[in-house]
Amino acid sequence: MNRFVQPVPPPADPYADDTLLRSWLERHLGPGGHAAAKGRLADLAADVTGPLRAAHADAEAHPPTLVRYDPWGARIDRIDTSAGWQAQRAAAARHAVVALPYLPDARGTWGAAARVVQHALLHLYGPESATFSCPVAMADGAAALLCLPDVDAGVRDAWLPRLVSTDPATAITSGQWMTESQGGSDLGRSSTLGRPAADGSWRLTGEKWFCSAADAAMAVALARPEGAGRGSRVLAPFLVPRYAADSPLADGAAADAPAPGVTVHRLKDKLGTRALPTAEIGLHDAYAVPLGDPACPAWSGR
Ligand SMILES: Cc1cc2nc3c(=O)[nH]c(=O)nc-3n(C[C@H](O)[C@H](O)[C@H](O)COP(=O)(O)OP(=O)(O)OC[C@H]3O[C@@H](n4cnc5c(N)ncnc54)[C@H](O)[C@@H]3O)c2cc1C
Repeated sequence: MNRFVQPVPPPADPYADDTLLRSWLERHLGPGGHAAAKGRLADLAADVTGPLRAAHADAEAHPPTLVRYDPWGARIDRIDTSAGWQAQRAAAARHAVVALPYLPDARGTWGAAARVVQHALLHLYGPESATFSCPVAMADGAAALLCLPDVDAGVRDAWLPRLVSTDPATAITSGQWMTESQGGSDLGRSSTLGRPAADGSWRLTGEKWFCSAADAAMAVALARPEGAGRGSRVLAPFLVPRYAADSPLADGAAADAPAPGVTVHRLKDKLGTRALPTAEIGLHDAYAVPLGDPACPAWSGR
């Protein structure tokens, strides 16, 4: 008896074959604006139907692992990710999925509608990104925060170019460390404490329960400045370097070791988004710099 085997459906080109997306772009960008975006969109679509589809499958099949100790017993907390995850990381940078709205050329061409083109890039990139769309979104959030005028210019100059780099060799992403086990969506119960240090930087101590993109080079962490009151409005965002390479407190540690005071307890065993490393992270006097005035966070309604 002949067994029926479903023929493989030919993969659609997510840009050329998506009439709705193209008409949406035509409406929001105008024919000239859409024409200027076509090259970028077609290039990314070609990658998505080719190498990124394979990278997606590889990253989903090989979830990240946490190596807590080296063979000699030293704590190293290294997160190993698959080749597919690394390919997704490089493609996100190369195709400017985070960077586009921050690039002077793009702003010159599309103005504020550079966000529309970025949205279209994300629409093409996300479904076969093995959830690298998550670090991408958090890196964009961190970049937008760093652009606020009350962020120290030195901090902005040190980190923003890396977040919006289109060179995979230098581009980084960011985590966002908010959730704590006692709080969940009730951020007002956050207990991570920030203390100012003598040099103007801060030290954070607390436990973050659900940190995605745990392999990213930095994180925006919420903490309660020492002496601030209760509730969520006094919580302030701090930039925490994730690795020793970027921490002034690192004393001879390997560049890819966790920054002093940052401990990766374990990776989450999630029902979905398994290619994405999500971790429980402990902070113990970890180096941090405030993003804006910690006594007057941007959302405090001053
Ligand atoms: C895949 C994944 C990745 C994540 N990555 C990150 C990350 O990178 N960084 C980070 O900080 N967090 C991250 N989180 C955590 C996420 O933000 C929290 O799960 C979220 O804030 C909800 O908290 P909770 O799970 O404790 O649910 P809870 O807050 O306990 O909520 C449980 C239920 O109660 C409801 N509920 C809560 N409060 C109220 C209320 N006041 N009134 C009525 N109903 C209410 C909710 O709608 C929900 O149905 C991640 C979570 C997942 C699943």
